[in-house]
Amino acid sequence: MKKLIIANWKCNPEKIIEGMKILNSLKGLVDGKNKVVICPPSVFLGQFLADFGQDFTFGVQNCYFEQKGAYTGEISPKMIQSIGAKYVIIGHSERRSIFKENDDEINKKLSLILNETNLIPVLCIGENREEREAEKTYQVIARQLMNCLDNIPKEKLNKIVIAYEPVWAIGTGIYATEDKIIDARNSIVKILCDIYDKSIENKINIIYGGSVNKENIDMVINGCKMDGVLVGGASLKPKDFILICNI
Ligand code: PEP
Repeated sequence: MKKLIIANWKCNPEKIIEGMKILNSLKGLVDGKNKVVICPPSVFLGQFLADFGQDFTFGVQNCYFEQKGAYTGEISPKMIQSIGAKYVIIGHSERRSIFKENDDEINKKLSLILNETNLIPVLCIGENREEREAEKTYQVIARQLMNCLDNIPKEKLNKIVIAYEPVWAIGTGIYATEDKIIDARNSIVKILCDIYDKSIENKINIIYGGSVNKENIDMVINGCKMDGVLVGGASLKPKDFILICNI
């Protein structure tokens, strides 16, 4: 079974030429065993799709919850689809904490993506350090899932990728241990079975994100049996990212 390896470049690199260099370094060395999706800054997408559209699948890091109109600075799901991207990350913890996005907005984005495009949404959830220390991880991810999936029908669930990304592990070099990832995975399945019913148990795609690197990728994929990974920092280092992609 192919694993999903998603690169989240965040607001990097500063120049499009540097991004091209990274893609050129990956080209031909990613072996195709897994599904690799590159999510660069949206402003680079047009050029990347023209030059590397045959080599990679592309996605974006965010979208708005309306398709068009007077929303300065925003990009919509239909725009993303029309340019040729296939995936869209929503609810990333940096969007939630820095840009104050809430579950209600993320739910609107998810509904619009699923109802009006063929894009695959990657819904990020996860607890922060205080919540983990207070042993509230289950409650936090249950609340996020319930709110973000409000009014999303069961039949659409297999179109969504759920990214479990503990906030304390993102960009810190401190990754979740095998037992924590397995625990979170089991919790997500249980919460979704409670929201919907048991029939969805084997239809959910759950990936892990948070300081994934070439050393821990085997633990995440083979130890925790995750369906894939969301990779930030290491996805900008071609040598490391190739090893991650070829797991
Ligand atoms: C992320 O941005 O989603 C992420 C997981 O980042 P990093 O791999 O750098 O922790």
